[in-house]
Amino acid sequence: MRLTDISYAKQIMAQHGIATQKRFGQNFLTNPRVVDDIADICADDDCGIIEIGPGIGTLTEALADRYYKVVAIEIDRGLIPVLADTLSRFDNVTVINADVMEIDFAGLISEHFAGHRVAVCANLPYYITSPIIMKLLECGHIFESLTVMIQKEVADRLTTRAGSDDYGAITLAVDYRADVEKCFDVSPGNFLPPPKVTSTVIRLTLLDEPRVKCTDPVRMFAIIRAAFGQRRKTLVNALSSLYRKEAVLDALNAMSLDAAVRGERLSIGQYAELTDILLASEVK
Ligand code: SAM
Repeated sequence: MRLTDISYAKQIMAQHGIATQKRFGQNFLTNPRVVDDIADICADDDCGIIEIGPGIGTLTEALADRYYKVVAIEIDRGLIPVLADTLSRFDNVTVINADVMEIDFAGLISEHFAGHRVAVCANLPYYITSPIIMKLLECGHIFESLTVMIQKEVADRLTTRAGSDDYGAITLAVDYRADVEKCFDVSPGNFLPPPKVTSTVIRLTLLDEPRVKCTDPVRMFAIIRAAFGQRRKTLVNALSSLYRKEAVLDALNAMSLDAAVRGERLSIGQYAELTDILLASEVK
């Protein structure tokens, strides 16, 4: 019996005296086809897998069937004995009881996957989707890819192009580090309990090096955050807390951009160029 079977999942939870916890974003998958599709596409055969938030083990069992090793990180202490039970037939799964935001991924990979390629696979808890994705991206190319199910609305933001309403600082952060593709949508009826929104599975393939070169990426992202903090303003006005108006106008002129351009029009390459010009103007 698979854990996607709702009566079986409920029986396991009842046996362990637990219920799904809203505060941890627990919406467990109940459609075996969705689980298999995610497990099939998330990595090459020789990869090891890090799963974030195994829940009662629904996706974990499909991953353990396909890949040589799975390390699953679960914050909810109450689920650890459940996972010990539901995954007892696998000798290739390690469950770690921890908050993913506290994990040292470089250390975890050298301890559990030395010499192997690693991919991340997760049905992410929605209350903390963006911070988790940002943390994983900031680790750099220690993962081959991240295949994650997230709210459709966030997926739209991560996969959009400059100029659209969905374009934001997180779109640029993803574009800086990864190629991103939408895989498929999953409707609320495929979860226990059903969430309020449609979900989308996306796949981020980490780049060997960031997409663009910039002298000071930290400064570049401070500029990006300022630009989108006041996205209805022109870029010159949105950056007024960081730079003199004349300095930004000169930089836009040097880049052949309109003086009234808004931040949502610039690509990651243009933000890198803008940052370098503004940094050079500071040292004049
Ligand atoms: N993988 C299971 C599935 O697809 O049925 C459960 C997915 S459920 C949407 C999200 C899981 O992430 C839950 O098991 C939840 O307890 C866990 N979780 C929530 N916050 C977490 C965190 N900060 N660190 C690790 N796991 C977390």
